[in-house]
Amino acid sequence: MTKRVLILGGGTGGAVAATRLHRWTHEGEVEVVLVDKSPWHEYRPSYLWVMNGKREPDEVRRPLKTLERRCGIKVIEAEVLSIDPTTRSVRTTAGDLEYDFLIVSLGAVVQPDELSSGLEAPWELDYAMVLRERLASFQGGRIVVGPMSWPYRCPPAPFEVAFMLRYLSEQRGIADKTPITVFHPWKQPMEVFGPLMVAGFQRFLKQFDVTFKGDFTLASHDRERKRLTSTKGESLDYDWGVVIPRHVPPAAVAQSPLATESGYMDVKLPSMQHPVFPEVFGVGDAVAPTIGLGMAGVFAHFQAEHVVTQILDRIRGVYTGELYNTVGICVMDTGYVGAAVWCDFGPKLRGESQVPDCRLIGGMRAMRAVKVAFEKLWFTNLFGPEEEQAKTPLALEQEAQLS
Ligand SMILES: Cc1cc2nc3c(=O)[nH]c(=O)nc-3n(C[C@H](O)[C@H](O)[C@H](O)COP(=O)(O)OP(=O)(O)OC[C@H]3O[C@@H](n4cnc5c(N)ncnc54)[C@H](O)[C@@H]3O)c2cc1C
Repeated sequence: MTKRVLILGGGTGGAVAATRLHRWTHEGEVEVVLVDKSPWHEYRPSYLWVMNGKREPDEVRRPLKTLERRCGIKVIEAEVLSIDPTTRSVRTTAGDLEYDFLIVSLGAVVQPDELSSGLEAPWELDYAMVLRERLASFQGGRIVVGPMSWPYRCPPAPFEVAFMLRYLSEQRGIADKTPITVFHPWKQPMEVFGPLMVAGFQRFLKQFDVTFKGDFTLASHDRERKRLTSTKGESLDYDWGVVIPRHVPPAAVAQSPLATESGYMDVKLPSMQHPVFPEVFGVGDAVAPTIGLGMAGVFAHFQAEHVVTQILDRIRGVYTGELYNTVGICVMDTGYVGAAVWCDFGPKLRGESQVPDCRLIGGMRAMRAVKVAFEKLWFTNLFGPEEEQAKTPLALEQEAQLS
């Protein structure tokens, strides 16, 4: 009998799960339904290239409806309102949906507040566009970059933003009047990733003439004086600020029986299954804080593949064998060179170490090429050969009318 797999969220984890379910199942074995409040799948690492004008919004996203044509899955554009695992049903703005298996990949929610507003960070596509406009007229001044809190999507990305801005200020010939500071609740740069990463980032900070202000948790923002003050009473004055808003769990997860006390979803390792509801699986940023991983697409990706094989095992009663991957890689474009943060969280997850086993690989120009190539590969893998990719929902509609 056909089983229904319901996927909540069409970001990294959801889109990978949907395409793998299509690839790895026989016809009629599963019915796949994917729900997202947005019509788009967005490739978030490229937001930074939208910020610096290297990409247009339509170059870093694809219509989710393409997956209907390519993978025969059903894509519903609707907001998930609540999840009731006791009745195996999900309430959405497009009605109630039932499931045999549920994959929750709703990510984390970026929640701007009065402290961060006006100092937008490129952590969502529309903020990347706001920043791009602000950057266009930037003629030098004190820049500050930092997160409201931890965890947030892509731990090294605030540093990447700062290095890119240093590059831009040098290209514009205004570096001497542009001191750049990264502030952070951590005492040392990248400290939760171990001593090798701290040393590597300290080297980069020095190389790109960026100051690090650690132990700085933002408590107040004086807009008139352009001054940020920490919980410890320290101040940072700025002319141009980038503040990454607080990240919170999606409300539908936080208010459901699936959540831990933090509001993020509970899962068991390595299955990524909920401890009480075995037909419910969680992947990506919605579970990252629960299992002690950073919020990174690479984890969402491999967890999604792992979860799909778990579901196939349950349906078929065999072990299809996609191993759980604990290695994550974030490739940074510093403007000058590329560098990769490579971390194996295996030792940390097994309780053998307080920190993951990490290396900083780079910086080389070739590493930037890797980042560009991966972006292309990402879209091709999910949405088909480049020349066949519909770039907008309208193009997709027109294509359907012609066929
Ligand atoms: C600037 C930046 C740079 C990054 N660089 C890297 C990198 O180099 N390497 C890396 O591995 N990771 C990187 N990341 C992190 C990566 O993008 C995320 O960790 C990843 O997207 C998480 O995948 P996910 O599926 O858990 O959530 P998401 O990709 O965030 O997807 C969640 C989806 O759920 C939908 N949704 C949310 N709530 C609802 C609701 N109530 N109803 C319906 N739909 C809903 C959203 O619209 C979204 O499509 C970066 C992120 C940023 C912002």
